[in-house]
Order: sequence, then structure tokens, then C-alpha cells
Amino acid sequence: MARVKTFFTCQQCGFQSPKWLGKCPDCNQWNTLAEEQTQPAQGPRALAAPGKPQKLEDITSTAEDRVSCGLAELDRTLGGGLVPGSLTLVGGDP
Ligand SMILES: [Zn+2]
Repeated sequence: MARVKTFFTCQQCGFQSPKWLGKCPDCNQWNTLAEEQTQPAQGPRALAAPGKPQKLEDITSTAEDRVSCGLAELDRTLGGGLVPGSLTLVGGDP
């Protein structure tokens, strides 16, 4: 459901404000701002289909292709090697 955005437009000069104002700051007329509503543009968020819950048994995980970095100890630390496209931060004492 798209949210309706409300704004106030001066009926004298067309000045727009997100808040209601007693006096238009543009043409200095009193009580000329009238409430109007606009449908916001459909963003990617609005178009995204709502996620459906999945059973754990329906979710399949694929093993990543691990690339050996040449150091057996570091490969073991990384869980079998480097994953292409991933970033691994390794810290610790030298
Ligand atoms: Zn005005």
C-alpha cells in the first residue's frame, strides 16, 4: 500500500509547504494554504515483491569455490581458502 504524501499549497501563488502555515511566506497572504495529497512515485521498494517464508529444508546452500592462497595454515583459517569476490579481514599479533 503506497503512502499518500500530504502537502499544503498556497491558492494565491502556488507556494508549497510540507506543513500548514497561517500565512504564505511567498505572497504574504493569510489563510491561503490548502491541504493537497499526492501519490508518491513508485520506488523500487514499492515494487519489490514481499518475501515469502521458506522452510529451512527448502533452502539449499551451495558450497563456494575456495581458492587456495598457498599457505596451508591460512587456508585452514579461512575455512578452506579464499572465496572469489569476498573480502576477508585477518587480524592478530604478527
Ligand atoms: Zn502564496
